[in-house]
Amino acid sequence: MTASQATSQAAQPATTFESRNPATDEVIATFPMHAEADVSKAVERARGAAAWWRDLGHDGRKRRMRAWRTLLVRRSDEFAELIHRENGKPSDDALGEIILAIEHVSWAASNAEKVLGRRRVAPGMLAMNHTASAEYLPFGVVGVIGPWNYPVHTPMGSITYALAAGNAVVFKPSEYTPAIGKWLVDSFAEVVPEQPVFGLVTGFGATGAALCRAGVDKLAFTGSTATGKKVMAACAETLTPILIECGGKDALIVADDADLDAAVDATVWGAMANSGQTCTGVERAYVVEPLYDEFVARVTREAGRIRGGSDAAANYGPMTMPAQIDVIRRHIDDALARGGRAVVGGPESVQPPYVQPVVLVDVPEDSVAVQEETFGPTVTITRVRDVDEAVRLANANPFGLGGAVFSAKHGERIAARLSCGMVSINSAITFATVPGLPFGGVRNSGFGRIHGPDGLREFAWPRAVTHLRYPSPIKVLTFRRTPRDVAWLVRMVKARWGR
Ligand code: NDP
Repeated sequence: MTASQATSQAAQPATTFESRNPATDEVIATFPMHAEADVSKAVERARGAAAWWRDLGHDGRKRRMRAWRTLLVRRSDEFAELIHRENGKPSDDALGEIILAIEHVSWAASNAEKVLGRRRVAPGMLAMNHTASAEYLPFGVVGVIGPWNYPVHTPMGSITYALAAGNAVVFKPSEYTPAIGKWLVDSFAEVVPEQPVFGLVTGFGATGAALCRAGVDKLAFTGSTATGKKVMAACAETLTPILIECGGKDALIVADDADLDAAVDATVWGAMANSGQTCTGVERAYVVEPLYDEFVARVTREAGRIRGGSDAAANYGPMTMPAQIDVIRRHIDDALARGGRAVVGGPESVQPPYVQPVVLVDVPEDSVAVQEETFGPTVTITRVRDVDEAVRLANANPFGLGGAVFSAKHGERIAARLSCGMVSINSAITFATVPGLPFGGVRNSGFGRIHGPDGLREFAWPRAVTHLRYPSPIKVLTFRRTPRDVAWLVRMVKARWGR
């Protein structure tokens, strides 16, 4: 082979990539690296299917989505095993994720017509001789770019609601979890074999970028804030509407009337479960002075019993994305270099592909471990004078996804002061399990909502219709209007609003 042949071969973009088990490095499957042309073709195929799916109407879609729900239930063990192998999380956690997704499929299918169907609206004074109504219509083809941390639950928050609203979907799963994405797409095709309503493209970031530019009618993205900005810029070129679900730095507040045991349990689970790879995971705890020492002692005890691994007894699995391990290491090192202390674990807890639990105290508020998303099994605990200080520090962060409050009597009042999209009182992350609640954040955590009625409306556009019932004695929207008509109108407005 000549040198120039070698160079041109090296310059060839890869056409396939492998997905691997993050615990063993075993190859799970090989997937095509879809380029721009492939992605455009996938969107075109979906566009044909979108009209068919839309025309099935709410009843037809509801029946098929319920059949999908049943299939997901029946095959959940097989699916959980695949999630365990490709993402690394324990099989029980994988099952939990599937159960959550099933709840959402069920809710979206059952409620789509009620939320999106045509409803009458009072026509008001100026159009009293008309009826007025509004309904929500599907966009057409929705592109969904998903992450690897909850490779089922998270993208399904968009996929399920987009499908129930009458759209076709083209899904680009993370390069770390393509087999899970394919399983979802294949399972849907089993219950909807007629048309490619739910399609798949695979590849790296470039494939996701191509999806933004492939003519989709809406794009739903879940991932990092940095990539979210790139997605927004790409979609701006064609004014494609987007939904952005980015990360978080969720705070848990412990007030002086808190149930300490429950707060400790929620902190350890909220921070460590899923190896801390949870956008709504507990990353910071703010604890009022009188409870602080006892809280730290109990978290230390409890977190000391938690362990990452891949055996049946492990509490959580390996880090799914190897590059995340460097972020976690940097956050721990920075916290310790700046005067923080590790009461559980430390730099030695980083044992690729695992990270064992790390609990940090006395960490300055402006350190990266407090300001940036760590996305690992770590938590900082900070002593605060009172709830006011806890709220102020919890809100002083560029992210605004979720939060948790522990207080016997004042939970509602404290929750109301938190500047984030979701709060659980006396538990952590429960809001994500309620299908009827909107899920999403503010500021760097993104915008738009999945789940619940807002999640359905996110994937549909509202259309307003008026219908003339009888001619009005007063002419308004016509050149045939006379000064007498205007005088009548003015008199009516004065009588109604002028007093
Ligand atoms: P990214 O935001 O880079 O990736 C998320 C998804 O977007 C993946 O499917 C990715 O594909 C795709 N993507 C990457 N680049 C582009 C692009 N230019 N245009 C369109 N799509 C693109 O997240 P990472 O996986 O790199 O994780 C980085 C950080 O993001 C984590 O440390 C964590 O803090 C945060 N994160 C938050 C999540 C959440 O649930 N909110 C989920 C995952 C990550 P590919 O995987 O092939 O690169």
